[in-house]
Amino acid sequence: ERMMEIRRQNCNPMTMKVTYYKKPVYIHQGHMQWLWDVDGRRYLDLFAGVATVSVGHCHPKVTAAAEKQLRKLWHTTNIYVYSPLHEYTEKLAATLPDPLKVIYLTNSGSEANDLAMLMARLHTGNFDVITLRGSYHGGSPHTMGLTSNAAYKYPVASGLGCHNTMCPDVFAGPWGGSNCRDSPIQTIRDCSCPQAKTEFCVGIFLLMYIRSSITGSCTANDKYIGQLNEVFATSVPSRIAAFFAEPIMGVGGAVQYPKNFLKDTYKLVRERGGVCIADEVQTGFGRTGSHFWGFQGHDVIPDMVTMAKGIANGFPMGAVVTTPEVAASFAKGVHFNTFGGNPVACAIASSVLDTMEEDGTQQISHNVGTYLLTELAKMRDKYEIIGDVRGKGLQIGVEMVKDKASRKPLPPAAMSEIFEDTKDMGVLIGKGGVYGQTFRIKPPMCITKNDADFFLAVFNQALHNYME
Ligand code: PMP
Repeated sequence: ERMMEIRRQNCNPMTMKVTYYKKPVYIHQGHMQWLWDVDGRRYLDLFAGVATVSVGHCHPKVTAAAEKQLRKLWHTTNIYVYSPLHEYTEKLAATLPDPLKVIYLTNSGSEANDLAMLMARLHTGNFDVITLRGSYHGGSPHTMGLTSNAAYKYPVASGLGCHNTMCPDVFAGPWGGSNCRDSPIQTIRDCSCPQAKTEFCVGIFLLMYIRSSITGSCTANDKYIGQLNEVFATSVPSRIAAFFAEPIMGVGGAVQYPKNFLKDTYKLVRERGGVCIADEVQTGFGRTGSHFWGFQGHDVIPDMVTMAKGIANGFPMGAVVTTPEVAASFAKGVHFNTFGGNPVACAIASSVLDTMEEDGTQQISHNVGTYLLTELAKMRDKYEIIGDVRGKGLQIGVEMVKDKASRKPLPPAAMSEIFEDTKDMGVLIGKGGVYGQTFRIKPPMCITKNDADFFLAVFNQALHNYME
C-alpha cells in the first residue's frame, strides 16, 4: 500500500486529493453496487464514482456490448458514417421531448457544458451567462467560470471570456463560499475595465444560492424571482446568452429549488433573448426516480440539455442535446471532436439505455431513494447534527450541522471522522456542499432495500460513535 501511495504521488499531481485521508482505499475490482480493495475487503458503493456508474460496476450486459464492439471497430471519427453512432443517437433522442432532438457527443460533462455555452452565445449573439450559487458545471477553464463552488476555482480568468488579462474584474470574487451566503443573487463580475463595453468583456455571472438549511431554508420563490428581476433591471440589460442550472444541485449538496423557480426563471431568461440549459450530468438517466430527466420534475423544456457521467456507466462520454433551431446557428461553423461519438462509447451507452429499461433502474431509484429519504428523515429528527435531508430518488444529500439552533456547518474534521468511520464499516459515500458539510448518496441504480438498510445501520452507528 505504501508503494502504491508513493507511486501515485510521484506520477499524479495531487490537485485532486484522495477522499479518505487517514487511510486511502485502494480499489481493485467492482461488480454492480460492490467494490473490493486490494486486500479483498468489500464495500457497498453509495457514491458510484460520483454519480457515474449508473447501472452497476462492470454490469455483465454492458461489458458484453463493449467487448463485442471492441472486436469490430474502435475508432474512425465522425468524418465517416458508422452504425453505433446513429443507432445510439436515435435511442437517446427518443428519451427526450420535442424539440430536443439534435445531439452532439463529447467526452465529458465539462466539454458538454463548454460546447453548450459556445452554442448559446452563437445562437443568441449575446454573451452573459447566469448560473446558480453553489453550482458545479465543470473544471475546464471555461466551465470553471460557470462553476460557483469556490473549492474548484483557480484565481484566473476562468470562463469569463475577457481578453484583457489585466481586467481587475476577471479576478473579482467572491466566488461563492462563506462570504456569499447571505445573498441568494449576486453579481460575480460586473466588469468595469475600459474594454467593458466591447463584445469580449461583458460577462456578468450571477450566482444564486437557492436553499440550504444553513442559509435558513429560504424557499420563497417570489423573493428569488423578485431579486432576479431587479438584477435584470439594473445590471443585465438584454444581453443574456444562457442560464445554466442543474435540476437538483449535485456537488452543491442535493440542493433543491422552490416550486416554480426554474419555470419562472426560464421565462425571464427567454424574455431577454437567452436560452435555458439543463445540466443533467448528475440528474439525468433516471437518477431522480420520478422522471428520466431531472428537468421533467420542474415542468420545463430546456433549449439545451447537457449530460455525461451516468450516460455510459463510467466510460468517458458526454452529450449536448438541443433544438434544430439552435443547431442551425451552430452549423454556420465547423465543429470537430476526434473522440466524440466514438463507436465503443456509443455501443456502451446504447447498452446502458437498454439495461436501464430491462433492469428498471429508474423505478429502483424511486423506490430505494424514497425509502432512504424517509429513513434518513427519521434520523434527522433523532440527531442534533443532521440539519437537513433532501433530494429525490438516488440523488440524496444529508446536511450536517453543529446543532439545529445555530445551523452552522459541521466542521471538516468532524465530517471526516463520520465519513472515515462509515468507510471502515464497509460503506462508501460522498461529501459536498459549499462548506463540505453535506454527505452525498448517489449509488449505482441497482441497489436494494437490504443495501439501504445496511447503510442506514452503518451511518447510525457512525453518528452514534461520533456523538459519544
Ligand atoms: N456538471 C455537473 C453537474 C457535474 O457534477 C460535473 C462533474 N462533477 C460536471 C458538469 C463536469 O463533468 P466532467 O467531470 O465529466 O467534466
